[in-house]
Amino acid sequence: MQTKKQKVALITLGCSKNWVDSEHLSAQLRAGEVQVSMQEGAAEEADVVIINTCGFIARAKEESIDTILTFAERRKEGLLEKLYVTGCLSQRYKEELKREIPEVDAWFGTMELPAILERFSVEYKDELLGERPLMTLPHFAYLKIAEGCSRKCAFCAIPQMRGKHRSRKIEDILAEAHRLVERGVKEVMLISQELTFYGLDRYRRRALPELLRQLARVEGLEWIRLHYAYPGQFPMELLDVMAEEPKICPYLDLPLQHISQSVLRRMKRQTSRQEVEMLVERIREKLPGAALRTTFLVGFPGETEEDVEELLNFIRKVRFERLGVFTYSHEEGTAAYALEDDVPEEEKRSRANRVMELQREISLEINEARVGKKLKVLLDRELDTWYVGRTSWDSPEVDNEVWVAKNGVTLNLGGFADVLITDATEYDLYGQIIQ
Ligand code: SF4
Repeated sequence: MQTKKQKVALITLGCSKNWVDSEHLSAQLRAGEVQVSMQEGAAEEADVVIINTCGFIARAKEESIDTILTFAERRKEGLLEKLYVTGCLSQRYKEELKREIPEVDAWFGTMELPAILERFSVEYKDELLGERPLMTLPHFAYLKIAEGCSRKCAFCAIPQMRGKHRSRKIEDILAEAHRLVERGVKEVMLISQELTFYGLDRYRRRALPELLRQLARVEGLEWIRLHYAYPGQFPMELLDVMAEEPKICPYLDLPLQHISQSVLRRMKRQTSRQEVEMLVERIREKLPGAALRTTFLVGFPGETEEDVEELLNFIRKVRFERLGVFTYSHEEGTAAYALEDDVPEEEKRSRANRVMELQREISLEINEARVGKKLKVLLDRELDTWYVGRTSWDSPEVDNEVWVAKNGVTLNLGGFADVLITDATEYDLYGQIIQ
């Protein structure tokens, strides 16, 4: 059992959903008067280390295991009093890991927050919603609206680690948003494994449009951003809400994974090329000027050169404003594991590079067309003679930034500025403050 005097460091690996989990864990520990830090470097001085791991794909697993091994060594040398591991990797491989790394004092799954708290003699408190210390900058926060995923995409190990989709109550999400705003948050990024499924389990209807209308009424909240909207059976009403509510950023993150019909079928995406094309058309029609973000997965078993060409042509046609690409990772426990991982790693990387090269050209053209325009920019940070911020088309960490020359003008970080765009590169804009 831990004592309250011990210094605890919480290390977080993986995606924004893990960040939110760490923020919640940290809030609960602090409420129990445990000294916990999520700062970089805090682990150097800590008596107890908790590692919140990622188990999504090979690269993420490696990073998590390397981190655990580093601290297991310190635990062995007596430099740490306790070492705990939680998160996706721990959920997925708990038994094997227990055997392989005995220096770890306890392993926890993704749904075992109270069990971690028990180690610190802290009781879980429901009322701490929205009290979480943010790992992000103080003016924006990720807001998780659901946990888990009930789909069965063939390449994806997430349902094994996070369980079935569980929507949070609308009231709880609103209460959390209010509390975040009181603490200075201006922008929330709505996340879950699959945003458009929201409500189907709890309310027996797709309730994302309704949730958004209510969130848009939260005073002081300026930007609401949508991540991870699954394209199959997309609730079209969502586009109307986005068009009508000015607080909802003209931004939609729609992970498409592929466009070739045969690949989509083998991926068990429960959507078709035709459905995706119609959806993209509707989005462009209803939300002209919105930034469409997507991610693709290349090198899936059986993917041919024709499939890659089809994907490239689709990207050329749609001209996504923001785009990311992953290479396929052969994960045990997924349906695709039964298929032959027949695209060599080098070829997977080469396909990903071809996608990104094309996207660089498209992104540069889109950015160059912004030169001479006046844009509203949220200022995130400053660096030397620049403020660095984002437009409503950009999410933190993954999208473009706007570099604004200070020119002797003092502005508040976390505030908005009107900026005249004077220059553009592939992934960044440059500009001057308009006074
Ligand atoms: S919808 Fe997303 S999280 Fe759910 S199984 Fe498919 S890829 Fe995984």
